[in-house]
Amino acid sequence: MFSRPPTCSVCGKPIEKNEPIYVRMRYPSYRGMVEIQAFLRQEGTIICEVCFSQKNNHEK
Ligand SMILES: [Zn+2]
Repeated sequence: MFSRPPTCSVCGKPIEKNEPIYVRMRYPSYRGMVEIQAFLRQEGTIICEVCFSQKNNHEK
């Protein structure tokens, strides 16, 4: 799916296999879900579970 190993955009940690991740992206306005993987590679921001939960805690 990814041409290079995906890493967390916050801490830079490589994403492990089967690790739950969060992806922040804009929903493509003119493409269908079929192309969402290609869109993800260009526009997606991957956040690991640890960073995502820490981010949420800070905002509370
Ligand atoms: Zn992280």
